[in-house]
Amino acid sequence: MKKLIVASNNVNKIKEIKQILSKYPIEVISMKEANIDIDIVEDGTTFQENAYKKAKTIYDLLKIKCMVLADDSGLVVRGLDGKPGVYSARFAGEHGNDKKNNEKLLKLLEYKGYEDRKAKFVCAITLIINDSKALEVQGEIAGIICEEERGTNRFGYDPLFYIPEYNMTFGEMDSILKNCISHRAMALKELEKEMRYLMKEV
Ligand code: IMP
Repeated sequence: MKKLIVASNNVNKIKEIKQILSKYPIEVISMKEANIDIDIVEDGTTFQENAYKKAKTIYDLLKIKCMVLADDSGLVVRGLDGKPGVYSARFAGEHGNDKKNNEKLLKLLEYKGYEDRKAKFVCAITLIINDSKALEVQGEIAGIICEEERGTNRFGYDPLFYIPEYNMTFGEMDSILKNCISHRAMALKELEKEMRYLMKEV
């Protein structure tokens, strides 16, 4: 079976990517499972730049080459001129402090109306296949930042991201539904369009 390393240490993301790719004959392994312990600075100005940097850094480290997938994702809020954007994970300063990030988001939107609360999650994915082939795709989902947290799924901004079509926040959705409609799922669907070619070539 072909091996694919996910260039991330975020357990929630790895779980989602594994679930989405489970229908393919690909062994998806995390950086930890591949014994890679490295922190990659996400200093790009776009999601795509960060995704490429993460994938390429890991790929270059591998002695025995296999596919490497990296994603960079975040929240883009209309009334905040696109913030937190590439700073989503460290919006409140400390990397990965979801509670503080959500509090800051609510505070900044406190007196803002519906239009300003419109937002989207964006996910950029880079898949490095070999020395000369890399694929880059992007997926999005639109929603509204609600006025208080809803739901028990605590990953990132999930409890604040309300999707009118489902009358639920990501925090209230079960993981199966979220993984069908999320920005990551949309990006992976784009990637799937290239999959037939990819499986032949690798
Ligand atoms: P990164 O892609 O690991 O840099 O993650 C960026 C940040 O965006 C995460 O730490 C979360 O705060 C947020 N984020 C990305 N995807 C999601 C999601 O599916 N739900 C909630 N928050 C997310």
